[in-house]
Amino acid sequence: MSSIEVNNLWVRYGEIDAVKGIDLEVSAGKTVAVLGRNGAGKTSTIEAIEGYRAPSAGEIRVLGLDPVKDRKKLLPKIGVMLQVGGVYPRMSARQALKLFAGFYDDPHDPEKLIDQVQLSKAADRPYRFLSGGEKQRLALALALIGKPRVLLLDEPTAGVDAAGKALIRELISESARNDAIVLMTTHELTEAERICDEILVIDDGKVVAQGTSSELRERYGKSSVTFTTSTPINISELTERFGMPIELIDGSTYRIESSSSFNAIGALTTYLGEINVAILELNAGKSSLEEVFLDLTSNSPEAQT
Ligand code: ATP
Repeated sequence: MSSIEVNNLWVRYGEIDAVKGIDLEVSAGKTVAVLGRNGAGKTSTIEAIEGYRAPSAGEIRVLGLDPVKDRKKLLPKIGVMLQVGGVYPRMSARQALKLFAGFYDDPHDPEKLIDQVQLSKAADRPYRFLSGGEKQRLALALALIGKPRVLLLDEPTAGVDAAGKALIRELISESARNDAIVLMTTHELTEAERICDEILVIDDGKVVAQGTSSELRERYGKSSVTFTTSTPINISELTERFGMPIELIDGSTYRIESSSSFNAIGALTTYLGEINVAILELNAGKSSLEEVFLDLTSNSPEAQT
């Protein structure tokens, strides 16, 4: 079976339930992102799927296998990138990749991967001397070395510069194009939008929304019109005219939240024409994924501290 299937997963640490009944599914060639605030339960979920942590309840199947009971069978088929290193501090990237390559039947050529993740210059430097971004690129190379069918990536681009992020995203997308099953966490919402087929928003250990970025924006977003005028306008007059609050964002930039941005634009241009004020910029549309995410997760205990 070529998928990850998680049913009613619970992960408990002593008295704390970090994951409270999560369901998810990822099939071959698909990339799914788990989004959530700090402490929402993302790492706990990934670690349980990897087999590193036994679930307190629920069922996990990866390629039809149980990640804890069938760990030996599963390990050669999965590539994992966790938040913490896992490389001996004195070992170089080249040594680590060669060592890991030895664990698999048909690994990638370590030299080729070093080139792909652009580590040629740093390949012989001890791990402890690598920069944060270099460590992340090495971690991805280590996850990819065994040509895994399943990739589990916990914040793969955290602390990486813009060029490194683009490189890591391209390698993840290439794996999915080659039919890998990819499950990742990220705090970068644009990353989730760009490279993931589906997004799972979790909050306080539970799934609160699920779908493509467009579906989430359509389902949970609000329509709004943001505009900048040539001179400041009288907000209370405009609010009265529209019968809905106008928010001052900055200087002469305002936002109207409306169920129909089309109607709002019509009324706005008429009003501004009457008072002889020009529009310098106008944007209409649904809330961004970031706004939707903040709305969906604003009740979490973490958000209230
Ligand atoms: P982040 O975005 O900060 O990485 P996360 O969504 O990955 O967060 P988890 O690391 O899964 O969150 O943690 C979920 C909750 O479980 C947090 O409240 C955390 O403090 C707690 N937790 C995690 N690991 C342990 C542990 N070993 N013992 C006790 N509590 C833990």
